[in-house]
Parts: sequence; C-alpha cells; structure tokens
Amino acid sequence: MAETNGTAGMEATRRRTQPSANGKTSEQSEEPAQWGRAWEVDWFSLISVIGLLCFAPFIVFYFVMACDQYQCSVSQPLFELLRGETSLLSIWARTASFTWSAAKIYTIWVAFQAFLYMCVPDITHKFIPGYVGGVQDGALTPAGLVNKYQINGLQCWLITHALWYANANFFHWFSPTIIFDNWIPLMWCANILGYAVATFAFIKAYLFPTNSEDCKFTGNLFYDYMMGIEFNPRIGEWFDFKLFFNGRPGIIAWTLINLSYMAKQQELYSQVTNSMILVNVLQAIYVLDFFWNEAWYLKTIDICHDHFGWYLGWGDCVWLPYLYTLQGLYLVYHPVQLSDAHALAVLLFGLVGYYIFRSTNHQKDLFRRTEGSCSIWGRKPTFIECLYRSADGVVHRSKLMTSGFWGVARHLNYTGDLMGSLAYCAACGFGHMLPYFYIVYMTILLVHRCVRDEHRCSSKYGKDWKCYTDAVPYRLIPGVF
Ligand code: NDP
Repeated sequence: MAETNGTAGMEATRRRTQPSANGKTSEQSEEPAQWGRAWEVDWFSLISVIGLLCFAPFIVFYFVMACDQYQCSVSQPLFELLRGETSLLSIWARTASFTWSAAKIYTIWVAFQAFLYMCVPDITHKFIPGYVGGVQDGALTPAGLVNKYQINGLQCWLITHALWYANANFFHWFSPTIIFDNWIPLMWCANILGYAVATFAFIKAYLFPTNSEDCKFTGNLFYDYMMGIEFNPRIGEWFDFKLFFNGRPGIIAWTLINLSYMAKQQELYSQVTNSMILVNVLQAIYVLDFFWNEAWYLKTIDICHDHFGWYLGWGDCVWLPYLYTLQGLYLVYHPVQLSDAHALAVLLFGLVGYYIFRSTNHQKDLFRRTEGSCSIWGRKPTFIECLYRSADGVVHRSKLMTSGFWGVARHLNYTGDLMGSLAYCAACGFGHMLPYFYIVYMTILLVHRCVRDEHRCSSKYGKDWKCYTDAVPYRLIPGVF
C-alpha cells in the first residue's frame, strides 16, 4: 500500500526496544504485575461463549424477522408460537432466503471497501485541519510490538457517501432503498462472511500467524474461536483484520443503512418523519466521530486488548449492522412523528451524551499523548504513576489520570455513550419494545466491558490500580455504580 506521510519503506510492525517514552528500561527493581488476556477459561466463561455462539445469530434473526413478519412486535411471534398459531417452520418458510443478487451486492460492497482501505491512501489529513490520518502507530502490544496502521476511514466514508449521494440524485444506478429491499438476503451474506472471517482467523493463528508472540491459545477451542487467538492478524503488511472489519463493512454501512431506511419511508409514505431524521442525525454524528478519531480508536480496547475471533469478526459483519440500526428499521414500519418538545428533548439528551462521551475520550487521549503535560478543566491533571510488564519481560511506566471526567468516575465515556444510545431509542416513541433493545444491549455490553477492563487493568497494574479505584471509587454513575 502506498503511504502518505513520508514513512514509505517503513515496516508495518516494529519492536519497541526502549520501553517507554520517559526512558525507563527493563532493569526495574520493583516487581510489576503481568499483563495480557487470561490463559485459562473458567466454566462460566465457557458456558457464556457457547451460549453466544449458539444464540447470537438467532437474536439477530429474531429481531429482523419480527419487523418483516410482525410489524416489529417482539412479543407477537412468541405468543403465536406458544398458542400454536404458528410454528418455527412456517416462520422459516415466510423468511426471505439467500439470493444471488444480494450476494452480488454484498460482494461489490465488501470488495469496494477493501479497495478503498488498501488502495486509496489518505489525503484528507493534508487539507482538513486537526484531522489525524495517514500512517499512525498503534499501542504497544502485550508482546512489546508497535503496529502501524493506515488511517483512511474518514476518506473512505466521504467517498462512499459522495457516491451514494451522486447515485441517488444523478446517476440512478440503483435505488436508494436497495439495502432495505434486500435486508434479509443480505443478512445471509453477512453471516457467511462473518463465519468465514472468524474461521479463517482461527486457522491462520495455527498455520501462519502474523506475530506468533502475540497469539494466545487457551487450549479451549470454543473460547479460542470466539475470543480469538491472534492479537492483530494481518494479510501482508497492511491489511489489518481488526481495523478493516470493525470500521469498514460495519460502521461505514451504518449511515448508509439509515439513509436507505429514510429513502424507504419517503417511498412508502411520501414523507420522512422527524424521528427518522433524528435517528439519522444522532447516529451519523457517532459514526463520523468514529472516523474523525480513527487514530484514537487504535488506543481503545478493541485494538489494544481484544484478540480477533468470532466476537469481533462475526460481530462486525452481522451484529453491528443489523442490531445497531434497529431504530431506523422500526421507523420504516412505524413512521412516528414526534411532538416538537419530544424531538427537542431527545436531541438535547443525545447531544449532551455525545459531549460527555467525546470529551471523556478526548481527555484521556490528550493526557496520554502529552504524558500529563496538558490542561484538563483549566488545571494540570493529577494522576497515579503505574508500572506494568509486557510478555517479553520489559517493564513500562504508565499514568492513570484522576482529574477531569476521569476523576468523576472511572468510565464516564461509557455513561455518555449510554445516554446517546437511549436517545436513539427514545426517538422512536413508546409504541414498541423493539427499538429499546439497543439500550438494553449497550448497557450489558458496556457494564460487562467495564468489569472486564477493570479486571484486566487490575492484573496489569496490580496495587497501582487499587490506588486508582480508591481515588475514584465509582465506575459509571458517581454515588450509584
Ligand atoms: P476506554 O477508552 O475507556 O479505555 C480503557 C483503557 O483506558 C483502560 O484499559 C486503560 O488502558 C486506560 N485507562 C483507564 N483508566 C484510565 C485513566 N484514569 N487514565 C488514563 N487511562 C486510563 O475504553 P474502550 O476502549 O472500551 O472504549 C472507547 C470508547 O468506545 C468508549 O467511549 C466506549 O463508549 C466506546 N465503545 C463503543 C462501543 C459500541 O459498540 N458502540 C463498543 C465499545 C466501546 P491502559 O492499559 O492503556 O492503561
């Protein structure tokens, strides 16, 4: 892949021999905590993994089918099944099946995104002030490596949406309702890709891992398949599975899917409701934020700590595009027109949530980038100094901030994210449960993520983490949790 900021010829991965920016070496006298994902799988984790592998695809199917066959009623199919008025077989018979035209659309979509990702190096960072794109360093991996990434997600998003706009308004190659019209057949294609990617990553970890020192085999096949073995699987130097699958077919699709739902509302009812506009706007802000901050995303848990398996591979291909867009889908079947007061309240709540989410993430990013030499809420930040050790035995230093949003609670970024998520749901009114699935899911995801992250941080930082939790006792809501 061509490079954009003068790093041509540089290897996409390098070993960090000098462990930390502040010059600490491996010859530390203190004994820091060991870092990295669990090596052993307890029974609870194993049962959860098998449960998810078995049920997650059915959850996606259930919601999409409920909209298609039951006007988005979540309870009606269950009641009909219980009363014997329908059967699983008849539900299945009424479900749209795989089609070759959907396969063609999906193949073109994924191939186009892969082309943009691999072959169109970022130029937007050269003329958009403040945007960080081009080749960027990832975080230090447990084995002590630093991967390089080609950050061009914003550019891919802009090109894709410009083409979508040009097609809808000038070229008319395909209908803007194409995604809605093929929604279930496309789901089968997304599943095929999700399982294929996860299986490929699993086999690749055994046969030709990108970096064997960053692989983790627990000895439990289910757990390894689901949670991944390789840390940062790649094909060649630059095709990074995590960055591509999470951002490209999944998150770029999110706003296009919503636009397709909006076009469908227009086609069916000759108008677009304010609720549909709200959902499109609030979710587009979230998506654009993701791509604007793609370089920051390299420092988040997905890239820094999770290994790549079914959880990320299938999740990015199927779970994310199908369940994160349920509000728009619901509004196609139920075109809710909100009162001005309701719409304004939802908009404000969503924007405040977004502000907390973004500012909290920004504070940590600024703090870490400047190693604490910055101003947070007008003051020099306070922090706790920590030590940890990577798998190669090298000791590193880190800092945990105790001021700004990070002094109020340990994960206010999740709280802001949850407020935004609730706003998407509330934009759909109170007629059905289905649009509220998202807030239930996000609460489970982020609370579990919070606990998982803290468990990891506790193993990584040991007693230093305890000092941090003593200084900042609450996780998401001060005084409550
Ligand atoms: P965070 O950005 O909160 O990162 C957690 C890491 O930050 C910790 O592992 C630790 O890493 C470091 N850290 C923790 N406390 C401090 C502190 N006080 N000072 C400095 N560093 C600290 O988590 P995520 O990566 O999970 O989330 C990033 C964002 O993405 C969040 O806003 C979240 O809401 C969002 N998200 C959205 C999802 C969605 O599906 N919509 C899914 C997942 C996340 P270290 O080891 O470096 O010390």
